[in-house]
Amino acid sequence: MNFKKNDEVQVTITDYTSEGAGIGKIDGYPLFVKDAIIGDTVIAGITKVKKNYAFARLVKIVTPSEDRVEPKCAFHKRCGGCQMQALSYEAQLIFKENKIRNNLVRIGGFEPDFVDAVMEPIIGMDEPFRYRNKAQYPVGNDRDGNPVTGFYAGRTHDIIANTDCYLGRECNQAILETVLSWMKENGVSAYDETSCQGMVRHVLIREGFHSGEIMVCLVVNLPVTSGFGGSGASDTGVLGTGLANANCLVEALRAIPEVGERIVSICLNYNNENTNVILGRESKVLFGQGYITDTLSGIAFRISPLSFYQVNPVQTEKLYGTALEYAGLTGEETVWDLYCGIGTISLFLSQKAKQVYGVEIVPQAIEDAKQNAALNGITNAQFFVGKAEEVLPEKYEKENIYADVIVVDPPRKGCDEKCLETMVKMAPKRIVYVSCDSATLARDLKYLCENGYEVKRVRGVDQFCHTVHVESVCLLSKVQK
Ligand code: SAH
Repeated sequence: MNFKKNDEVQVTITDYTSEGAGIGKIDGYPLFVKDAIIGDTVIAGITKVKKNYAFARLVKIVTPSEDRVEPKCAFHKRCGGCQMQALSYEAQLIFKENKIRNNLVRIGGFEPDFVDAVMEPIIGMDEPFRYRNKAQYPVGNDRDGNPVTGFYAGRTHDIIANTDCYLGRECNQAILETVLSWMKENGVSAYDETSCQGMVRHVLIREGFHSGEIMVCLVVNLPVTSGFGGSGASDTGVLGTGLANANCLVEALRAIPEVGERIVSICLNYNNENTNVILGRESKVLFGQGYITDTLSGIAFRISPLSFYQVNPVQTEKLYGTALEYAGLTGEETVWDLYCGIGTISLFLSQKAKQVYGVEIVPQAIEDAKQNAALNGITNAQFFVGKAEEVLPEKYEKENIYADVIVVDPPRKGCDEKCLETMVKMAPKRIVYVSCDSATLARDLKYLCENGYEVKRVRGVDQFCHTVHVESVCLLSKVQK
């Protein structure tokens, strides 16, 4: 196509990119149009031309999609958090189901009719807002030098001031405003990414939906060894203009009406690296305990700042419920739960299995998993620290371990081939694959199906409403010879 920058063309949007831009094709040549949604016919202004595609901005909607709705959030176009608020929730679910289906066909190499036969209806939310139990707000300065918190404008590190995101909990707003006032009153600076100067980098808030417990954690630009006091005493020698008066912060947070009494943990997390990674390795308790507790389907979990914990607890119960159903346990099975995090799925499974073994790379998460098992009086779950692709082969070769069922829940990049290879060697009757990226799921299913397994059931679960992401669960069973 001979497009050039600033050309304007009319195009109808038929799909989304993985970043949530609308895709429309002109004679097969794709345009990625930010802010356009499936079903819109728009005038698109070309912003950047590449050989096989071009980026464009939405100049004008000629015919709006029938699925267009008024976004709830005033910042949705500028904020990088949600990509699909302008699309009705029903249409979002259809898009997500199609995404899983298309990846299974295109990447997995499965026949469309087969995919239609094994796919079950996606599980959506009744109320797709306020679902996140965790918020991580970056802190920076506005043009006048006042500390602000909000969200990064899509793809950039400019902060859009906003203390109330509709995906997060109502309590976040009062907490963030209290932190900002405390910073102003005590001359505590916001971190500046360019100069690496300043103190407060992020505010992390976690809320247990069932327990009501809240954690507030300030990520500060201090070295781990700074020894800033749990008593809240000022340590100006090390801190300079830093976090003197932490007691005032604790008092102010605890005094927030209806919210303060639920704040059971106030922490500092130390991160003085020049990095995009939000949390540093170590945290220190300023008030209360170093964790919150929450329950999922009656099992209690202890969650510290660094632990991975599913962000949408309402949907997580449905996701794990589906995984448990697919696992088909009778009480006699030995089950391996790979990529187990703090042991959430493992403990779900342990109630219906003879023995569960969990494997996870983050040592702190394994500590949490062990504590969680003890907290619930669960004695048939054991946990190992390490990479799944190393722990599993090693145990298989040395100890000839066995599994009736293997559950995996890897990060977006999917399972390492060495891990899949060992799973196949272990020859469990069933494999349950929980995935947050259907493209790598499809790739891994292809491998497993070439090596003695068949896909029986697949189901999407919408854990991340208004974003392009979708979680899926898949049941594979060993082909009988
Ligand atoms: N099943 C858990 C966690 C899923 S997220 C839950 O539902 O809560 C994926 C987890 O895999 C993360 O905890 C991450 O730390 C872990 N992880 C990433 N790479 C890994 C690897 N190579 N081996 C084992 N665990 C890994």
